[in-house]
Amino acid sequence: MSSSTLLPSQVTLGILGGGQLGRMSAMAAARLGIEVVIYCPEHDCPASYVARETITADYDDEAAMRDFSAKTDVISYEFENIPVKTIEYIETLKLGSVLPDRTLLDVSQDRIKEKSFLNDHGIETVRWREVSTLEEIKETCTEWESKRFVIKTTRFGYDGKGQIKGDAGNILENQDLASFIQEAKDQALIMEEFSAFDYEISVIVARDKFGKTEFYGPMLNEHKNHILYKTTVPCGSPAHIAEQSRDIAENIANAVNLVGVLTVEFFVCNSDTLLVNEIAPRTHNSGHWSIDACAVSQFENHVRCVCGLNAGAVGRHSDVEMINLIGNDIKEIDGYLTQERACIHLYGKKEIKDGRKMGHITMLK
Ligand code: AMP
Repeated sequence: MSSSTLLPSQVTLGILGGGQLGRMSAMAAARLGIEVVIYCPEHDCPASYVARETITADYDDEAAMRDFSAKTDVISYEFENIPVKTIEYIETLKLGSVLPDRTLLDVSQDRIKEKSFLNDHGIETVRWREVSTLEEIKETCTEWESKRFVIKTTRFGYDGKGQIKGDAGNILENQDLASFIQEAKDQALIMEEFSAFDYEISVIVARDKFGKTEFYGPMLNEHKNHILYKTTVPCGSPAHIAEQSRDIAENIANAVNLVGVLTVEFFVCNSDTLLVNEIAPRTHNSGHWSIDACAVSQFENHVRCVCGLNAGAVGRHSDVEMINLIGNDIKEIDGYLTQERACIHLYGKKEIKDGRKMGHITMLK
């Protein structure tokens, strides 16, 4: 059944993954009259409280996937570590694509594929190389004539997990590096030159099936312990940096014929060089402010695009600062509840954990 022949209220959207991104997408879908079925291995996931139905099953449970497929008209995902095999299986049932296309998902799951993809499309990144031993790391430092580097696992790294920084001195005796390599075992590792960037920005592009694009940002992103802590819009970068960042995002979106939302994270170096750090074919924490500061949020545009509707003009009407509530930050909620122009979003997570994203506040300026 093609969604373009249906009213939005006749479309049921399936979302693989049940975290806060799925939750906010389901809330945006509800506003359009679109019902959502969540598929998630964990019980009581944040999205389950706002969806019509949640299927709780592992990503290799074929019977559950058949049930999910039968109950939905369109399927998307809310985080990039959904196994590509799951998507391939669902596509055989639906005889159609899970959106955004899994090519980008496959690329974004693996840092080596990701950097190769970007460089092949003429997009600059930090210098990088696949490595597996301390000797290779030492040789690469000599060849690059660089002092500092970051070693990362190629898969399943996020919020600073699966990475370690190092410098060129005494590499062969560096116990922390040796243990990191040991623990990674069979996982491929990527060595990246350490970027002494000026600041970090991101851009989110939404692209509909007609090829029309809409942009959020660039936004300025600040991290604490590798986790996004604060996003500011506008980001304060010169106009040519903003333009160039959106062009890069648009080029990637067009190259893969994106239908949905894509986030591109950048390092801004030496005042005017943009290096892409990461891409993700999904909504992003650095775009949460768009719920309160735009006519059409990143979540609504994601839902619109994957459901075959037109992308909407973003229409940002306020400058903002978005603050993440991470772990114990949630205990400061009373202070925000009484603050003017504070838009509060809590994800319904019952247990506080270190580094866990519990909610966010959009401060309208
Ligand atoms: P990632 O998981 O690759 O997004 O890294 C998380 C954060 O670590 C980034 O947002 C940067 O602040 C920092 N980081 C990652 N890679 C590098 C690099 N090559 N040079 C400097 N900082 C980095």
